[in-house]
Amino acid sequence: MSPFSVTMLGTASAVPFSDRNPSAQALSVHGRLYLLDCGEGTQQRIRQEHLSFVKFQAVFISHIHGDHIFGLYGLLSTMSLYHRTEPFVIVGPENLRPVLDFYRANLAGDQSYEVEFRPVSCTEPEEVYSDGDIHVFAFPLNHGMPCFGYRIEEEVGQRRFPWKPRTYAYCSDTAPFPELPKWVDGVDILYHEATYPQQYADKARQYLHSSTLDAAACALKAGVGKLLIGHYSSRVKDISVFENECRTVFADTVAANDGDIFEITR
Ligand SMILES: [Zn+2]
Ligand SMILES: [Zn+2]
Repeated sequence: MSPFSVTMLGTASAVPFSDRNPSAQALSVHGRLYLLDCGEGTQQRIRQEHLSFVKFQAVFISHIHGDHIFGLYGLLSTMSLYHRTEPFVIVGPENLRPVLDFYRANLAGDQSYEVEFRPVSCTEPEEVYSDGDIHVFAFPLNHGMPCFGYRIEEEVGQRRFPWKPRTYAYCSDTAPFPELPKWVDGVDILYHEATYPQQYADKARQYLHSSTLDAAACALKAGVGKLLIGHYSSRVKDISVFENECRTVFADTVAANDGDIFEITR
């Protein structure tokens, strides 16, 4: 079976720390790389994980809060400095367009490659990207602004001895809502933000985020294989609190840290 893994580049919420960066993940599928969000520090994290800038095919942006996009300009610039020629696909909400337009007009200079922006505006799951290795479906999240989760399904059909496709879903940032478990139903690994432990569940409601028990309830209802959590509030320093609370509802929960690599298996 060809490799399918996800590397945690950033598991912090709003602000960076010495050992925890804002949201970004690198998906590695059959030798190709894809980014999920691109918070500040993503380039440094790509370096630290010894990943190749030019192997990234696309980035899937959840929403335009800074902790999910402040790394984008630097990354776009570096890929040009490395003389990338292959188009780079950016999938994200329509309100990302002016952010990209500003870059192109003022900062990109003589860029070596094309950026292909694919705006997402769906109200239920819709395929937004596919190549020979993955299909990606976007679905709306509940975060008070256009915000999307992504479900990544492995493409294996062209192979002589195909295996059962593996699936990964990325949900950051969101308050719970009834349709979400259905939309991530049965994935092998679900990443679901768990910004607040139960002690601050009122803050989760106030800021349209999830608490630990919200994330775990979604994983349980969706019948996923494993739950990864992240996007931790800086109010709580001991990450084991998040993990232990989730495990009371969904046993196979792991509190992700920067640098963790998870193999997606069935
Ligand atoms: Zn965030
Ligand atoms: Zn946000």
